[in-house]
Amino acid sequence: MKPIARSIRTRQLGGYVCHSCTRNLRRSRRGYATTSQPSTLEIYDVVCVGGGPAGLSLLAALRANPITSPLKVALIESQSLDPTRKFSLPSTQYSNRCSSLTPKSVGFLQDIGAWEHVKRERVCGYKGMRVWDGVSGASIDFSPEIGGAATEGGVVAYMNENLNLTRALLGRLDELGGVEVLEGEKVTGIGFGNDTSTADLSSWPVVKTSGGRELAARLLVGADGGNSPVRTFAGIDSRGWDYGRVGVVATLQMEGEGWGCEEGKIAYQRFLPTGPVACLPLPGKFCTLVWSTTPDLAAKLKALSAEDFVSMVNAAFRLSVTDLKYLHDLPSGQEEEVSWRENHTPFEREHVPMKVVGVQEGSIASFPLKLRHADSYIGQRVALVGDAAHTVHPLAGQGLNQGQGDVESLANTIAYSVEHGMDIGVRMNLERYESERYAQNNMLMGVVDKLHKLYATENQLVVGVRSLGLRAVNSLDSVKGFFMRQASGRGEKFL
Ligand SMILES: Cc1cc2nc3c(=O)[nH]c(=O)nc-3n(C[C@H](O)[C@H](O)[C@H](O)COP(=O)(O)OP(=O)(O)OC[C@H]3O[C@@H](n4cnc5c(N)ncnc54)[C@H](O)[C@@H]3O)c2cc1C
Repeated sequence: MKPIARSIRTRQLGGYVCHSCTRNLRRSRRGYATTSQPSTLEIYDVVCVGGGPAGLSLLAALRANPITSPLKVALIESQSLDPTRKFSLPSTQYSNRCSSLTPKSVGFLQDIGAWEHVKRERVCGYKGMRVWDGVSGASIDFSPEIGGAATEGGVVAYMNENLNLTRALLGRLDELGGVEVLEGEKVTGIGFGNDTSTADLSSWPVVKTSGGRELAARLLVGADGGNSPVRTFAGIDSRGWDYGRVGVVATLQMEGEGWGCEEGKIAYQRFLPTGPVACLPLPGKFCTLVWSTTPDLAAKLKALSAEDFVSMVNAAFRLSVTDLKYLHDLPSGQEEEVSWRENHTPFEREHVPMKVVGVQEGSIASFPLKLRHADSYIGQRVALVGDAAHTVHPLAGQGLNQGQGDVESLANTIAYSVEHGMDIGVRMNLERYESERYAQNNMLMGVVDKLHKLYATENQLVVGVRSLGLRAVNSLDSVKGFFMRQASGRGEKFL
């Protein structure tokens, strides 16, 4: 069902639609291009499309705050949320979709009461990061003592399965109640309401779902990921480029003294010319892999036997770029070849992750990597959060964290409007959200993008300069402290 193209008019509507005054209005068909059985129009203050980490956090934040809890809110999610609700794995298995959560994001999740629903035994706080140049070997080490970035217990960030987080958010929403959840229902069209004798909804987005529901929203939130239908409806362009890279992910089992203990919990990232390879700690002797590489090499990796795949991961952290090129071209037999080459390659054991000895069955997958940034996060009666607003290369582990920052800011913006008797959907009242988040996200995305480009070359001059830079930064605790604070989400604001 196609929405009729109409420019968005600016009109302020006073007052709030709350449970007691919500009326179901019989809508005419004027708002849509095609006809269908007339259905009952339901009116909401906030309709959130997308039940990923961003959408669920926003709803939890609105419901947890007594100022915004009277708002009538709905969630539309195209997938069934049952697999998330039932998410449960033994302590020897982990989902392959993990994200590092900054202490700032965790603080926000605590504030909205969601963190206590997270299965903490499946979360791994880590205390340091080691990042190095795969071509020159220049490195930088971050430890909790530097720059005061660390939180309680010296933790820099927390590795967590995305499903552990979304499950917790759903648990918190169940506890809070008051959200109309339409799951397994896709948005099939978004148009505008009508000016009827009972209410003027002509500037209100009306969302039609595959289940035949029609929801009018005082504020429509797009938390609907990279291909956001809400962003398309609002006519907001999203610009950027594909990196021509994919992120290969897998759950790995490690071996060696120390990996399972607190001191062993360090994130490792090596920049290879094809993209960075990262090994991020999970509880026990497990870690999650994010290996950014070309689609061609990713396909070769995914076609390997488990033993050869494990050997390639070990090689990625230990062997030279030339060795890796050769190994990628072998159709099989990497296990034997890597073992021989490792014995003839000098590397400092304490500077690389412990040996990978296994990969969890079915956990190897890949995701295309791209950069996208919406021209704006707001429109009249529309706000975008999370990947609907921006998609960033995962090398700095910031995508989900940026979404949490958006949600915190938008929830505060909505609360401010409610407190001051202002209309939550009017663009002017959403500008505080845009001004708090846009430039901040843009700056971070620019840095991440430049890092990717800076390390995606073997040009000797560039390698020399970047290695000098890395060594210089490594010797300056104050500069390292600055980077640590940015990575942990506690950085100074630039703008
Ligand atoms: C390999 C990799 C590693 C990463 N590592 C990290 C990391 O370490 N740290 C970090 O912070 N970030 C990381 N990220 C980024 C992070 O995963 C994303 O930023 C985050 O998951 C986005 O959450 P979201 O809620 O905005 O969007 P999504 O998770 O995409 O959720 C969007 C939701 O909208 C729903 N939807 C879409 N269309 C419709 C429709 N028409 N109708 C109804 N519902 C709809 C979808 O079903 C989905 O549930 C990584 C990403 C990748 C690819």
